[in-house]
Amino acid sequence: MSRAAEKSIRAGHPWVYSNSIRETNRAGTSGELGIIYDSENAFLAVGFYELNSPLAVKILEAGKAVKIDQTWIENKLRTSFSLREFLKTEKTTGYRCVHGENDGMPGFILDRYETSFVMKLYALGWVKMLKSLEESIVKLLQPERLVLRLSRNVQEASRAFGFEDGQLLCGLPAAAPVVFHENSLAFEADIIKGQKTGFFLDQRDNRKKVMGYSRGKRVLNVFSFSGGFSVYAAAGGAKEVSSVDISEHALQSALRNFNLNQDNAGIKAVRHQIFKADAFKWLRESTGKFDLVVLDPPSMAKRQGEKPAALSAYSKLANDAIGKISAGGILVASSCSAHVTSDEFFETVLKNCRKSGRIHHILEKTGHSPDHPIKFPEAEYLKTIYVQFEKQA
Ligand code: SAH
Repeated sequence: MSRAAEKSIRAGHPWVYSNSIRETNRAGTSGELGIIYDSENAFLAVGFYELNSPLAVKILEAGKAVKIDQTWIENKLRTSFSLREFLKTEKTTGYRCVHGENDGMPGFILDRYETSFVMKLYALGWVKMLKSLEESIVKLLQPERLVLRLSRNVQEASRAFGFEDGQLLCGLPAAAPVVFHENSLAFEADIIKGQKTGFFLDQRDNRKKVMGYSRGKRVLNVFSFSGGFSVYAAAGGAKEVSSVDISEHALQSALRNFNLNQDNAGIKAVRHQIFKADAFKWLRESTGKFDLVVLDPPSMAKRQGEKPAALSAYSKLANDAIGKISAGGILVASSCSAHVTSDEFFETVLKNCRKSGRIHHILEKTGHSPDHPIKFPEAEYLKTIYVQFEKQA
């Protein structure tokens, strides 16, 4: 192990890159538990090994040699659940129960949607331990159903163990998307095939903030997905709401999410329009002004090398969105690209605000909702800036 990697592991970083491994005593296979020794040959950490990946080890435990077994899993799950007790209300039944590395379980995600639970695995090691995971979750949470989601990098290898993406591990099959609540509002989540585990739970607090800014406003939600921000805006008293997304499937889900909330008189009264379009083109070509614009595009930089293109895309989006914002209006711009830092993203948005020549103020800068804690720099992927443009005198 290189000195730098040793130091970083001791400081609690959960990843070891392959180029920092000095020596291996045998060729490992993906998904095996790997033991890491320091330069004095003393135990340093244990983690899941990935063959042929630049991210060679995801660390499960550092400092003390422990057995990674069902008891270990149960202890980790119990700790994560206890940290989220405050979210467990009748009004919010959709949230992240375990956030991977940040909850000491690298590559393991567990989300709750009412009585359904979805685990998403990003490391083959977890697939090998699936029976223990399932038993622990059933014991601690008694889910009505538990669904398995697999990240693309482990899907093929998982087949050899008899597991498929979207598989029902236990409980009742879901006939349709499951319905859950966020701050009293109802939403559906396609937990079998939907993006992530079915919903973008990490934006919950931003959605609530947008609700607070929406009274009397014409709201535009760009990259709307299933209309999360749109429903909140309507609940907050928006005058009208428009949702733009390239996916018909996502927009149909947005319509259903409005229908799910028809007992809310405020939402029922709001005119909601959907536009199936490429957001870049739509922003450039459509006419009309809005008082609040939400921009929440998908990740633009999955690799470090894609960063310049991502920044240029963010810049274009911000520029075109600002052009559509009325006097006194607000821009809410998010980035979920891990390779773009908060500072870089905020500066890109602000550069376009300055370029517009309009007087503007930063209202807020925010990150993830608290069920997505951040324990190491790379985990800080979501950043959002709220900018208000002054009314012309
Ligand atoms: N704001 C949403 C999450 C957005 S996810 C929420 O809070 O739930 C990103 C969305 O962007 C996806 O729904 C995807 O279909 C859409 N998308 C991706 N590329 C697009 C494009 N070029 N134009 C419009 N929408 C796009």
